[in-house]
Amino acid sequence: MVDKALIERAAELVDTAEVLVITAGAGMGVDSGLPDFRGNQGFWQAYPPYARLGLSFVECANPQHFQDDPSFGWGFYGHRTNLYRDTVPHSGFGIIKSWIEKKTAPYFVVTSNVDGQFQKAGFADDRILEVHGSIHWLQCLSPCSNSIWPNNEQIPVDPVTMRAGQIPRCPRCNGVSRPNILMFGDWSWLPDRTHQQEQRMQQFLDEHGDKKIVVIEMGAGTAIPTIRATSERLGWRHDGATVIRINIREPEIAAPHVGLVCGALEGLQQINALLR
Ligand SMILES: [Zn+2]
Repeated sequence: MVDKALIERAAELVDTAEVLVITAGAGMGVDSGLPDFRGNQGFWQAYPPYARLGLSFVECANPQHFQDDPSFGWGFYGHRTNLYRDTVPHSGFGIIKSWIEKKTAPYFVVTSNVDGQFQKAGFADDRILEVHGSIHWLQCLSPCSNSIWPNNEQIPVDPVTMRAGQIPRCPRCNGVSRPNILMFGDWSWLPDRTHQQEQRMQQFLDEHGDKKIVVIEMGAGTAIPTIRATSERLGWRHDGATVIRINIREPEIAAPHVGLVCGALEGLQQINALLR
């Protein structure tokens, strides 16, 4: 049960915000039915074949597999490509969009998710920073150049073996390609696209940083703290910026910021119910 006074405070913040910054971690996707990779049990529940192999998320999300056994590497990422293409963003995305449209507020999205769900929900591509890259872009594994290209591949994956029936190739050298995602133990991720997004975010803050910013953070845990750190930096560095942290497990944040103990969709719905 979320504290009613905190929901009221959050609604007042959204109501009076001049600028919205949306920050999202893995918990944002849970309400769209996406698996929670938190802890081995959550990961293995979503991917029983990896439980049989005794491989954790960290071990699966390693670029070495593309080198050693591309069909295995692409099994995991091909499956996720297909999953994210098929996923419909939950209605919380639409609630945030309705606030942006009603207020005509400038906004920026920062997400650690590689699933492309904000673009799919209709947020502008040039208003999104994907700090770990995107599964919808590919690069050469070597890499033989700094090019990245859209992931238009069809990648069938055997759900029992988690092996891909098709290996996406680099159009330049015909070597194996890989998603343009920052993985664990990753020395060959090409960060240019994310760096360009970071520059757009910085321009956005240069332009709007002195206005009344409200940061709405959803489903960002402490295990991989990039998103929480981003929210907190915005909250403390900019006068008049306030963070609304929506998190079912780790809602802690010092006042004047607001922590709501609930999932992303529930928090957004409860705030929305109080807005005129
Ligand atoms: Zn290449």
